Amino acid sequence: MKNQINHPVISVDEIVRPTRVEVDLKILSDNFKKVKKHADCKIMPILKANAYGHGLVRIAQLYEGLKADYLGVAVVEEGILLREMGIKIPILVLGGVWGNQIPLFLKHKLSITASSIDKLKQIDDTAEQMKTKAVVHLKIDTGMERIGVHYYNVDKFLEAAYKCKNIVVEGIYSHFANSEADDLSFTKIQLERFNEVLDFFNSRSIKPPLRHISNSGAILQLPEANLDMVRPGIILFGVYPSEKVKRKVDVKPALSWKSLVVYFKVIKAGNAVGYGLTYKPDHNIRAVTIPVGYGDGYLRSMSHKAKVLLNGKPYPVVGNISMDQIVVNIENDSAYNGDEVILLGTNGNESITCEDLAQWAGTIPYEILTNINTRVPRIYLE
Ligand SMILES: *Cc1c(COP(=O)(O)O)cnc(C)c1O
Repeated sequence: MKNQINHPVISVDEIVRPTRVEVDLKILSDNFKKVKKHADCKIMPILKANAYGHGLVRIAQLYEGLKADYLGVAVVEEGILLREMGIKIPILVLGGVWGNQIPLFLKHKLSITASSIDKLKQIDDTAEQMKTKAVVHLKIDTGMERIGVHYYNVDKFLEAAYKCKNIVVEGIYSHFANSEADDLSFTKIQLERFNEVLDFFNSRSIKPPLRHISNSGAILQLPEANLDMVRPGIILFGVYPSEKVKRKVDVKPALSWKSLVVYFKVIKAGNAVGYGLTYKPDHNIRAVTIPVGYGDGYLRSMSHKAKVLLNGKPYPVVGNISMDQIVVNIENDSAYNGDEVILLGTNGNESITCEDLAQWAGTIPYEILTNINTRVPRIYLE
């Protein structure tokens, strides 16, 4: 087991927290290969929000080593960090761009999402001033109503893009709003709209740039949307985008969230646990304290619902979840300081999944993963 953490300023020897995330790189690379084989086209792993909690830099290094064609991040800072850490493959920033960020994109050779004629002009002007070429992917809105030029209004935008002397149009893309549903009718409409936009290139005999629209849901359910490149996010991490989605690719979760028992005590009948005094056992119980809380992303909304695994058995978290600590009721069982506690992951036949946490918290697995705070060290199993 080689320890490597994502945070550049802390060295491995300094890790003293018992609470940690373990990421199995072998599982991640198997997942990548399976998705790549299934999609059978170029692949742009999406690494926004600290690579869905798995640790941006190490995961980017893994995919670069596996010959991913591209990487996708949400904000320019994520792209700059990757460049500073030595990542060389193309990186597309998926979010919108502010005028004053454009020089940073150019300096670090990050591909820009262009989502309006105004932005194209700003990008072109900045590239001219800096005597360089800007690489852009044009963003088309086919029904998400977030950013991008509406599919019914694209001609001027596309013409403008090809007139900009300092812009290289490398890609054109759109994004699905509902591809993880069992009813794919709207997803198919979005794909049709995107294909109509792409007629611009055929009708002018221009070679289209890289065309991409598929996220995890579509990769699993709508292969005709793969086009030139796919943009898988959550599926690479072994988590399916929804319960309903067809599980066409057999991926496995790679992240475990663990901690240790740091305190043992008996709570007497009638004495309450934690803030708000919300849990009062009516008989004496044995309880252990675990150093994790909502400040780590162990969401407070899971209070009175969450369970953890201790010695291979599930036990309930009692009282309100605090910022840094939780209390677990082990009734009459035994546990000792230093015993391993699994917050998310598998022990023997028992497991606690991302979906379990999402259900307890009333949210989706994406939010569980991306909320695991960076103060939790990431440890990589090679
Ligand atoms: C987040 C995101 C993806 C990946 O989504 P998943 O559902 O995690 O596969 C792809 N494309 C864009 C534009 C995104 O924002």
